[in-house]
Amino acid sequence: MTVAKSKRLREVNGTDVLNKRVKTEETLSFESITIPNIKHESDLIITPSIKPESDSVIPSNKLEPDSISNTKKYLTVEIEDKKPNVFAKVTSDDVDSIPSTCKAPPKWSELYNEVVAMRSKFLSPVDTMGCERIPEGISPNVAKTNPRVFRFQLLISLMLSSQTKDEVNFQAMRNLHSGLMALGHKDGLSLESIVTLSEGEIDAFISKVGFHRKKAAYIKKACAILQSNFDSDIPKNITDIVTLPGVGPKMGFLLLQRGWNINDGIGVDVHIHRLAQMWGWVAKSEKPESTRTELESWLPKKFWGDINPLLVGFGQVICVPKASNCDICTLGINKLCKSSNKKLLNASMTDARRAKLLKGRGNLTELITEIEDLV
Ligand code: SF4
Repeated sequence: MTVAKSKRLREVNGTDVLNKRVKTEETLSFESITIPNIKHESDLIITPSIKPESDSVIPSNKLEPDSISNTKKYLTVEIEDKKPNVFAKVTSDDVDSIPSTCKAPPKWSELYNEVVAMRSKFLSPVDTMGCERIPEGISPNVAKTNPRVFRFQLLISLMLSSQTKDEVNFQAMRNLHSGLMALGHKDGLSLESIVTLSEGEIDAFISKVGFHRKKAAYIKKACAILQSNFDSDIPKNITDIVTLPGVGPKMGFLLLQRGWNINDGIGVDVHIHRLAQMWGWVAKSEKPESTRTELESWLPKKFWGDINPLLVGFGQVICVPKASNCDICTLGINKLCKSSNKKLLNASMTDARRAKLLKGRGNLTELITEIEDLV
C-alpha cells in the first residue's frame, strides 16, 4: 500500500499505549513496520533510505539513535489511507440521484459540504476514541487478524457508549481489555473471555461509564444470547441485533456498517437528532427513530455511513449543545444556518475567546486561523 503523510503510532507490547499521529512528507510503500525500543514519536526517524527493498521490517542496525536501550517495548507504525475526519463531499450527481418524489431540504448539500470542509480541519473525540475506533485502539489490527473479535469489541463499545463521553468509554474499554489479558486471555476482550466474568466483575471494569450496572447486566445477557442463538458472532441483520438487550437501532445500524460492511440504515445519535432538526432537515420530534426514517427518505445511501461520525464530531466540537461556537462555524458565516448566534458571529476574535476555544475537545487551531483570514 502506498500512502503518505499520516501515520499512527501504537505500542503493541507494553503497558502504555502510545497512539499518536506523526507527519511525513515522503510516500512510503510498505504497510507496516516494527521498530524495537522506540518510546516516543520524537525517537522515530523514518526516511526512504532505511526502508529495506525485500520486506517491511527495518533491521535494528539501521535504527537511530544508536543509543536506544535494549528494552522489550515495540511499536508498530501503521500507515492509514483515510483520515478519520475526512469525508466525501456531495456532488451534483448525488443530488440528482434523489428521486423527485423524495423531499430533500433546500441547500442540504451546500450545508453538508461546509461541514465536511470544517471537519477536515480538526479531530474530534469520535475520530480517535469513538466506538468505531475503539477496537483498533485497544487491540491494533484486530479487524484484520480476528474480525469476529473485532465485531464483538465493537458491540461492547457501542453498548457502553450511551450517556457516556467517548473519552470515558475508551478508557473503560481499555480497562476491560487489559484486565482480561492480565487474566490470561490472549485476545483480551472477546465473547469467550468476558463470559468468564461475573456481572459484578464486569461492572468493576466499566464503573466510570454511565449506567454501568445496567450495562454490565445487559452485557451478560447479550453474551448468552450470542452464544445460544447466533453461533457466538454478531448477527448480520438489524432484526436479530436489536434482540440483544440494551442495543437499539442506532447501535445496530452502526454495528452492521462497521462490523459487516452492511449499509442498511443511519445510526442516529443525539447530535444527529439535534442538528438535523435544527437545520430543518427533518420534522421536530422527540424520537430519534423518526429522524432516522425521515433522513433515510432523501439522503443518498452512500452518505448513511459517513453522516454519523461527520455530525457527531461536529456536535462534539463546533455546534456543542447549549454552547455553539458560531463564530468559527462557516455555516453561520455563509448564512446556511438559521439558528446561528448573531452576536457571537459578529464579535471579533479576542485572545480570551481563542484561548477558550482551544481548551475544547478538539484542536481548533487550523479552523480558527482560517476563519480569521476569511472574515
Ligand atoms: S448554531 Fe452556530 S455552530 Fe451550530 S451549526 Fe448553526 S452556525 Fe454553526
